[in-house]
Amino acid sequence: MKNKQLHRGMETMMNFDFTPEQEMLRQTVRKFVDKEIMPYIKEWDERGEFDRNIFKRLAELNLMGVCIPEEYGGMGMDYNSLAIVCEELERGDTAFRTAVSVHTGLNSLTLLQWGTEEQKQKYLVPQARGEKIGAFGLTEPNAGSDVASIQTTAVRDGDDYILNGQKTWISLADIADHFLVFAYTDKSKKHRGISAFIVERTMPGFSSRPIKGKLGIRSGNTGELFFDNVRVPKENLLGEEGEGFKIAMSALDNGRFTVAAGAVGLIMACLEASVKYCHERKTFGKEIGRHQLVQQMIARMEAGLQISRLLVYKVGFLKNEGRRCTRETSLAKWIACDYANQAADDAVQIHGAYGYSNEYPVERYLRNSKAPVIYEGTREIHTIMQAEYVLGYRQDKPLRKTLPAWRPAEN
Ligand SMILES: Cc1cc2nc3c(=O)[nH]c(=O)nc-3n(C[C@H](O)[C@H](O)[C@H](O)COP(=O)(O)OP(=O)(O)OC[C@H]3O[C@@H](n4cnc5c(N)ncnc54)[C@H](O)[C@@H]3O)c2cc1C
Repeated sequence: MKNKQLHRGMETMMNFDFTPEQEMLRQTVRKFVDKEIMPYIKEWDERGEFDRNIFKRLAELNLMGVCIPEEYGGMGMDYNSLAIVCEELERGDTAFRTAVSVHTGLNSLTLLQWGTEEQKQKYLVPQARGEKIGAFGLTEPNAGSDVASIQTTAVRDGDDYILNGQKTWISLADIADHFLVFAYTDKSKKHRGISAFIVERTMPGFSSRPIKGKLGIRSGNTGELFFDNVRVPKENLLGEEGEGFKIAMSALDNGRFTVAAGAVGLIMACLEASVKYCHERKTFGKEIGRHQLVQQMIARMEAGLQISRLLVYKVGFLKNEGRRCTRETSLAKWIACDYANQAADDAVQIHGAYGYSNEYPVERYLRNSKAPVIYEGTREIHTIMQAEYVLGYRQDKPLRKTLPAWRPAEN
């Protein structure tokens, strides 16, 4: 009932309050992060791995499908609830938010938007329940920002497609069970010849390999995928042949929203650590928080936090309403990730030499803050997108399938 009131309210006015359910969700994730991530993250980051039981725990808390409708195995909460989960997880470490970004943002929500009923039952339901993990394979060794340069191919053979090629920099490459994979079914049509497929790890010819030596997100798995004559049934074509580029871009609308929300969480973590240190450390006879140039860095973090939050929750609001918001999502992702990167840099600066060692968490924040400025559209790509929208060179047209608006459960 409260949810219904909230939804009616949102149609008539802006509402900046969280619902009791959203507040409870935030507390749940915060407690989980404080108890099950914070005490171990330094060691996981050093070792470059984490305890995979974390995914089981996330699933037990229903966090792997928080905004997926209940009929498809999720919690049926609104899109801003997904933002809250991402904020709180990234307060712990970027690796866990990245996992939710690819599993829910890039994969599950794409199945919800574009999948047939059979695909949703077979793949979305177990993913939303956290029984299976989903990932997203778009980037290739010679194609990142320039998606149309991918070389992976899918050739129709009877009732199957045969996939050949390679993907790189894929989050959860060695962990996920299901992958959304983008491949050319007709190279002559350029980006209109790309199609999207659901590929299972167990399909013969599929293999993966981890990428070592990363700057940040060290406790998260990132790797390469290889497709050697992988036979994928035609039922696993997502959308229609040639719709892959649109599907990939709409997936990014959801992924970028989660990345932006995570950046808010990273700024929170930077502020938490910096405020504590400002009160502890003294120079020239006073707490460093009393020095105006240190205050400038704290103020910049606070401004970044509040501005980014507003941009993120606006996107969540638009998604709840079922409105396409590629433009707003791109802006939120760009600005929030830049602020998070700046906040992490400031946090290290505030900690002086101690910030330069892993005695304090801020050096990890700085290393972690860089990838989100690169993945899901680099800073430069989002800058260009924003300029093009303003200049009238870019417009978003309606898609054949839209992400469903949030509808509160009837009770
Ligand atoms: C930790 C991590 C996890 C990732 N996870 C995934 C994943 O799960 N799935 C997936 O598919 N990919 C993933 N990626 C890949 C990521 O999406 C790409 O790295 C990203 O799209 C950029 O592509 P690129 O690295 O090839 O850079 P490039 O596209 O080669 O760009 C290189 C530089 O040139 C600039 N540039 C490129 N084109 C232009 C232009 N037109 N104008 C101005 N500047 C330009 C870029 O901004 C950048 O600074 C991940 C990456 C990282 C680091």
